[in-house]
Amino acid sequence: MNRLQAKYPGESEYLQAVREVLESIEDVYNMHPEFEQAKIVERMVEPDRIFSFRVTWVDDKGEVQTNTGYRIQFNSAIGPYKGGLRFHRAVTPSMLKFLGFEQTFKNALTTLPMGGAKGGSDFDPKGKSNGEIMRFCQAFMQELWQCIGPDQDVPAGDVGVGGREIGYLYGQYKKLARQYNTGVLTGKGGTWGGSILRPEATGFGALYFTQHLLHHAGKDIAGKKVALSGFGNVAWGASIKATQLGAKVVAISGPDGVCHIPEGITREMIDYMLVMRASNRDRVEDMATRFPDKAQFIAGKKSWSIPVDIALPCAFQNELSEEDAKELVANGCWCCCEVSNMGCQPGAIHYFQNNGVLFAPGKAVNAGGVATSGLEMTQNASHISWTAEEVDSKLHQIMQSIHEQCVKFGTQPDGSVDYVKGANIAGFMKVAQAMLEQGII
Ligand code: GLU
Repeated sequence: MNRLQAKYPGESEYLQAVREVLESIEDVYNMHPEFEQAKIVERMVEPDRIFSFRVTWVDDKGEVQTNTGYRIQFNSAIGPYKGGLRFHRAVTPSMLKFLGFEQTFKNALTTLPMGGAKGGSDFDPKGKSNGEIMRFCQAFMQELWQCIGPDQDVPAGDVGVGGREIGYLYGQYKKLARQYNTGVLTGKGGTWGGSILRPEATGFGALYFTQHLLHHAGKDIAGKKVALSGFGNVAWGASIKATQLGAKVVAISGPDGVCHIPEGITREMIDYMLVMRASNRDRVEDMATRFPDKAQFIAGKKSWSIPVDIALPCAFQNELSEEDAKELVANGCWCCCEVSNMGCQPGAIHYFQNNGVLFAPGKAVNAGGVATSGLEMTQNASHISWTAEEVDSKLHQIMQSIHEQCVKFGTQPDGSVDYVKGANIAGFMKVAQAMLEQGII
C-alpha cells in the first residue's frame, strides 16, 4: 500500500478501493506463501494496460469540442475483459482504475468467465442534445474499436451510458471494424442482440441480494421503508423490484436535492424516472413538479436525511459519508446495501459495522448488472435469446450464489457475516488461483 501511494499520489479513489481489498484479504493471503512467491498482489493491483485517447467532436453550435477517452483493461485471468463505460465530467484515470479493479472481483463473484475492465470519458452528458450524444459516441468509438472484440474486451453501460449510447457506439463500431458480431457490447436494444431484463438487472439483482441478506438475518423486506439515491437506470430497476417485494421507496435523489415520497413511489413515478434520465437535465426536482401531491422536493439534501429502515445508495462512489451514516442510524436505519460502486466512504462502512447495521458492498450487491451482461454474451455467442423468466431465474441463482460466497468467506466467530470481507476474499481467491495457474505473465 505504501509503495502504491508513493507511486500514484492523488489517485484517491483507486487507493481507497485497493486498500479495502488488501485489508480484507490480509489473513488469507498470509496463509498462502505461493501467492506471495508469485507476487500476486503486486500484479493484481496494476491494470494490464490503459488506453487513453483524444475524442474530438462538433457541438450543435458548430463549435469543436475535445474530451479524453479511456479504456482500462485491468485483469484477464478468468476471461475476456468486461466492464462498463462511464461518461461523466469527473472521470479521471484514478476513477476508472478503481472501477476496473472492483470490476475484476465483482465479475469473479458472478461465477461467469469474465475479466475486469472499465472505460469512459470526461464528457458531460448534462444538457447535451441527442445529436451531440450521437456525435460524441461516434468520435469515442473511432478510437475504441481497435481495442475491443467479443472474445477480447466487451464494454457496456455505466453512469451516463445507457441503451441509447450503446446503440450509437455499436453503429459506429460496425462501420469501422466491419464486424457484425453484436457480442462486442452488452446492454444493447432488444431487437439486435440485447438481453431481455438487462436494463433492470442491476436493480433487480441488488434487491435479490438484499432479500437473501435479510433472510439470513431472520428479517423480511415487505413493509420496510427504503431510501434510494439517484434516479438513473440502477435506481429505476431497484425501485421496481423493491416495490414488487412489498417495500416502500420513500426517497430518490439527484445532484439538486432529494424527493421525499411519504406514501412510497408508484409505477407511474418509476416510469417517469426514464423520462427524467432521457431529458439530460439531471434534476430530481422534476419528479416533484410532475407529481406535486406525492413527492416533496428538498433542495440540497441527500436521501440519507429521510428516516428509513434500509438505505440503498444507487448513484456514485463515496456518496454516503460517515455523517450520513450517523444520521441514518439515528433515524432508525438498520440495513445498507451498496448498489453503486464504492458508494459508501470507509468511515461510513466502519460506522455501520460498529453499530450493528447490516452492510454489504457494491461488488456483491450490484453484480447482477454485469452478470446479466454475461448472460447477454452467452445468448449472442449461441445466436439465441432467452425469455424474461429464463434470464430472471438465472440472475436470481447468480445473486444467491454471490450471497452464499459472502457467507462462506465472511462468517465471523460470533456467527455474524462480514460481507465486505466475504465478497473481497471470495473474489480474490478465484482471480489469484487463476493467475497462479497461468504462470508469471
Ligand atoms: N457498469 C456496470 C458495473 O459496474 C455493468 C458493467 C457491464 O455490464 O459490463 O458492473
